[in-house]
Amino acid sequence: MTTTAIHHFINGQINEGSSGLSQHVFNPATGNVSGNVVLASERDVDTAVQAAKAAFPAWADTPPIRRARVMFKFLELLNANKDALAEAITKEHGKVFTDAQGEVARGIDIVEFACGIPQLLKGDYTEQVSTGIDNWTLRQPLGVVAGITPFNFPVMVPMWMFPVAIAAGNTFILKPSPIDPSASLMMAELLKQAGLPAGVFNVVQGDKGSVEALIDHPDIKALSFVGSTPIANLIYERGAKHGKRVQALGGAKNHMVVMPDANLEKAVDALIGAAYGSAGERCMAISVAVLVGDIADGVVAKLAERASDLKVKDGMQLDAEMGPIVTRQAHERITGYINKGVEEGAQLVVDGRELDATQTGDGCAEGFWMGGTLFDHVTPEMTIYKEEIFGPVLVCVRVPDVATAIQLINDHEFGNGVSCFTESGSVAREFGRRIQVGMVGINVPIPVPMAWHGFGGWKRSLFGDTHAYGEEGVRFYTKQKSIMQRWSDSIDAGAEFVMPTAK
Ligand code: NAD
Repeated sequence: MTTTAIHHFINGQINEGSSGLSQHVFNPATGNVSGNVVLASERDVDTAVQAAKAAFPAWADTPPIRRARVMFKFLELLNANKDALAEAITKEHGKVFTDAQGEVARGIDIVEFACGIPQLLKGDYTEQVSTGIDNWTLRQPLGVVAGITPFNFPVMVPMWMFPVAIAAGNTFILKPSPIDPSASLMMAELLKQAGLPAGVFNVVQGDKGSVEALIDHPDIKALSFVGSTPIANLIYERGAKHGKRVQALGGAKNHMVVMPDANLEKAVDALIGAAYGSAGERCMAISVAVLVGDIADGVVAKLAERASDLKVKDGMQLDAEMGPIVTRQAHERITGYINKGVEEGAQLVVDGRELDATQTGDGCAEGFWMGGTLFDHVTPEMTIYKEEIFGPVLVCVRVPDVATAIQLINDHEFGNGVSCFTESGSVAREFGRRIQVGMVGINVPIPVPMAWHGFGGWKRSLFGDTHAYGEEGVRFYTKQKSIMQRWSDSIDAGAEFVMPTAK
């Protein structure tokens, strides 16, 4: 079996690195090793930072319209290569091909947004802020910035970051997940073809060690992180200690409330797609169904029927609804959570551990397979309620009314996404106002904001104060400067010793 060597991309070219260390990359559908990804040493990280630092002055000086033209060309190339990117995602992550196409499309949205950078960087101007004085504010790029990304969206999440960062005039180092690193090099190659100067976009492959080298490097001005909460917390604290600007998006436990007046057929469709799509490995996956009032028995019965009937197959088969779990370790972790749920007394309605893996496709016998799992009568004290499982496991909590549902959700440590299915305008309004969660859907199960709105959770789902992409992204990757100006014919003679005020 042939395996691909997956390297760094530094200063416009593939770089094999100096560490001598590498790690296997698997196709989770077959369980086979498909590649070996190198792991950066501190020296490799420094090589990338030096390349990005050298490229910064000229790139920052390039007029925004010309930076935007590179983005337009990149957009064209992305559209021409979107299926190749989606296939690379499916083969290393496992998610079904059509879902991977959706991921690429949502990344492309951000590139389209970044093409508008000349408009986004326009400053504010006040003529005659005081007699003879004008004042304006402008935003300038930070310098070398880095993005550290998770396995679950190897194209979309990097694209939450680098199109905006680069269009704003920064140079960028991407540290993708070593679990599915190939797409990062494809994006680097497309940026090069689009005419991006060498050193503006770099990729260093690696894990903990390379991340630490990035956090501690004095020439990196800002870090964007997306991944699990413990690592987000660590990066936020350690980055801040080094005086860096940090946005660190963490884990989630997203609830969907189903009110008795909701369209129950549509609510069940939404729950099935949002809980088991991408094998539940989405930070906006719904992992808790909050069933309000006397609808619970009926909804659980419908969910059970659908969850037992999911088409769990190799994601390259076009009728697949759910692919494999990303790694053997993740499979073990999710199995451990299911065992724990049973031990702690939740009612196991559908057991994904029992999947008949012969249905999954040719050559898939050794893949990391699991079916959808459904638990009922889950309570807030249970581990499967409190912790992020990040797998195809949906837990149902029964509550008497919407106030209890809101309280339950507000008490949870995470606050990424949430959804409420109802036909009542006043319930929807009250829910939207009272819920302590960053992204809210009303009859929308996965309310991922569009490219120009920005993405971010609350509580322990986000460390830092700016969200990813949208205008918040532009703010994160630029610093504001205020310039106040007057000319000598409006300057009074003599020194002024009092605090200047508007005249
Ligand atoms: P992860 O935290 O294990 O890894 C994320 C990144 O951090 C990877 O690049 C990884 O190489 C690096 N990393 C891992 N361990 C590290 C360590 N000890 N020190 C420094 N760096 C380290 O996350 P994952 O398993 O790749 O992704 C799944 C997690 O990401 C889930 O918790 C999910 O909710 C979260 N996620 C959140 C969002 C969001 O927007 N809030 C989006 C996608 C994923």
